[in-house]
Amino acid sequence: MTRRIGSATIAALTDAEGPFFSPRADAFPAATAEHWRRADELDPAALRDGGWWLRFRCFLVRLDSGRTLLVDAGIGGLDAPARTWAPVPGSLPAELAAAGVAPGDVDTVVITHLHTDHVGWAVEAGAPYFGTARYLVPGADIEAVSRLNPALDRVLVEPLRATGQLVPAEGDLDVADGVRVVATPGHTPGHQSVLLADTVLLTGDLLVHAVQLVDPALPYAHDDAPERARESRQAWLNRHEGVLATAHLGEPFLDWPMSAGRP
Ligand SMILES: [Zn+2]
Repeated sequence: MTRRIGSATIAALTDAEGPFFSPRADAFPAATAEHWRRADELDPAALRDGGWWLRFRCFLVRLDSGRTLLVDAGIGGLDAPARTWAPVPGSLPAELAAAGVAPGDVDTVVITHLHTDHVGWAVEAGAPYFGTARYLVPGADIEAVSRLNPALDRVLVEPLRATGQLVPAEGDLDVADGVRVVATPGHTPGHQSVLLADTVLLTGDLLVHAVQLVDPALPYAHDDAPERARESRQAWLNRHEGVLATAHLGEPFLDWPMSAGRP
C-alpha cells in the first residue's frame, strides 16, 4: 500500500504477520470491554480468534530528489534475534524487490528502537544488509542495550559500528528534505518516530494497538517507561493532524484525527 505526500512516496512493506505471544488483556491490563469494542471497530484486522494479530511492518520512503529511506527493519531472517517469538523468516527482501528497490539503493535506515521486531534485517549474517546506508539508531537505546537486550549489542550494534554505518540519533533531526526524526521516548529510552512532510507520522511503537487510539493513556505492559511513553503518545496524538503510519496495526495508514473526533 502506497501513499503520495508532497515530494515523497511512502510504501508500507509487511515483513510478516502473526499472533501476539500472550493474551492481549495481558498487554493492556487496564483496558475495559468498551475499550476493546471500540478498538476492534477501529481496526478489525488486528483481531483474530479473539486474540491480537500483529503486522510487522516497515516503511519505504522514496523522495523525488532520489533519496531512498527505510523506517525499521522488521523481524528478519531465520537466524534473526526475533526468531524466539516472531514468525521468521520475514519477507522484507521480497517486498523491497517487488517495489524495485535493491538493498544498496537504501541510503538511510531509521531504526525507531532497539527491539528485535524492528531491527531484524538491519544486519544479516554478520554484515549490514543495506551495504551503503547510514543507520540512525537511538543513542539512548544504544547506551541501554545491555539492559534492553544484550544480544543486540553483538549482532546489531557492533557490526554497524565496525563498518562506520552506525549513527547514534539524539533527539529531533532532519534527515532529508521533509523527513524529520522526532524523539518519542518511553517505549524504549530513546524511541523515535519519523515525521514526513509534517503530515505522516511513522509512529514506530509509540502506539502498537488501536486500543491506544481509543485511550492514549492506557499503559502497555511492554513499555520500558510507561509514564514517559504515555506522555509521548498523548502529546503526539493530541497535536498531530494528518496520517498515522503504524508498525503493528491491521491497517498501515490511518487518517488522524478520525472524522468522529479525537477519542
Ligand atoms: Zn514492535
